[in-house]
Amino acid sequence: MSSTFVESEERIELRKQVFKLASKYGQEYFLKKARAGEKTDELWLELGKSGYLGVNLPEEYGGGGGGLGDVAAVLEEVGAAGCPLLLMVVSPAICGTVINKYGTPAQKERWLPGIADGTETMAFAITEPDAGTNSHNIVTTARRDGDEWVLNGKKVFISGLDESKNVLVVARAEAVDDEGQKTGKLKPCLFVVPTDAPGFEFTPIPMEFISPETQFQVFIDDVRLPADALIGDEDGGLVQLFAGLNPERIMAASFATGIARFALSKATAYAKERTVFQGPIGAHQAIAHPLAKAHIEVELARLMTQKAAALVDEGKDFEAGEAANMAKYAAAEASCSAVDASVHTFGGNGLTQEYGMGALVAASRVMRIAPVSKEMILNFVSMHSLGLPKSY
Ligand SMILES: Cc1cc2nc3c(=O)[nH]c(=O)nc-3n(C[C@H](O)[C@H](O)[C@H](O)COP(=O)(O)OP(=O)(O)OC[C@H]3O[C@@H](n4cnc5c(N)ncnc54)[C@H](O)[C@@H]3O)c2cc1C
Repeated sequence: MSSTFVESEERIELRKQVFKLASKYGQEYFLKKARAGEKTDELWLELGKSGYLGVNLPEEYGGGGGGLGDVAAVLEEVGAAGCPLLLMVVSPAICGTVINKYGTPAQKERWLPGIADGTETMAFAITEPDAGTNSHNIVTTARRDGDEWVLNGKKVFISGLDESKNVLVVARAEAVDDEGQKTGKLKPCLFVVPTDAPGFEFTPIPMEFISPETQFQVFIDDVRLPADALIGDEDGGLVQLFAGLNPERIMAASFATGIARFALSKATAYAKERTVFQGPIGAHQAIAHPLAKAHIEVELARLMTQKAAALVDEGKDFEAGEAANMAKYAAAEASCSAVDASVHTFGGNGLTQEYGMGALVAASRVMRIAPVSKEMILNFVSMHSLGLPKSY
């Protein structure tokens, strides 16, 4: 049996190149933009132009012909360089994957090139105020009216609508039986909605999360869409939605490990220099051990993330579900520990704007909550991996 736990030379080279590109910008640029309420368009578009944003999408639609493992590596590296780009989770990984898998050739032609080069970023909207974690309870509805669809509902915490031309909205359409009669049941469907469509309104949610990406509350009031706004089969339901969820978790894991690596590299550099008694503070185990422990946890999380991405890329979506959830859980926990230990290493400087460490606290914490909370992953693992009774 031959097996190897190292990534391919191409993947390692991709990581190097992306890290180099993002390091030209770095955390100073990223935080300056975020604090000024501006976007990191220069970095986003340079990544797009260089082929990194859409590295997972097919070449015929402007992508790089790679897999999810590649785009996850890109996200991890930009984060490790101090620029964690939240919209990479959404635009190329969720929307790109779903459209590539279930879109018609015309839909792929229409949406994928702009997602790949970054000129037509696509947001993703599933979360609703009254459903929250329980996405089976979403009530945004899609009704047919002649050749058109009419959407109504509410969404919350939707990232990046102000910098996206379109958003992939999860809504529920009325199911019909074999005779074409309405069954009264509602099934989830995916629609591409232009963010400037009449009736689609969004307002920013003030967050304590220092990021160029803004979260929005959304009101969808009789938004009319052409028939081809529907991605995939109207009856495809959950399967089509799930196609985007493993990538979402794997990307969230990479977002988290990128931040963790950035924090640990800053903290270890500081711990080697800063001296207050005899020798640098990094010589004290009280400082060194939490950093070492976090480093181990981050490496373990990266390994599980790579495994999950490899399973997706092999088309083993079912097996990937468990690995993607575990990777996301492990990465979020590792990231929170790494950031906590790093902030502590800096003492008072850990909370100054100059050192940028405090900004990582909320960023790492977000990954415990979104896109799926730590508790829901534990519920999933209890039930699916351990066979315990369903608890929710
Ligand atoms: C920065 C940020 C960006 C986001 N971007 C997007 C986006 O672009 N698109 C999008 O659709 N959504 C987005 N979200 C939403 C995110 O996916 C949700 O916040 C997340 O799914 C949790 O839902 P909720 O906030 O409603 O929490 P709730 O569902 O209200 O849960 C609150 C707490 O209760 C716990 N809980 C609930 N039920 C159970 C149970 N059965 N067992 C144990 N614990 C339970 C949860 O784990 C959580 O800790 C974003 C959120 C944030 C913070």
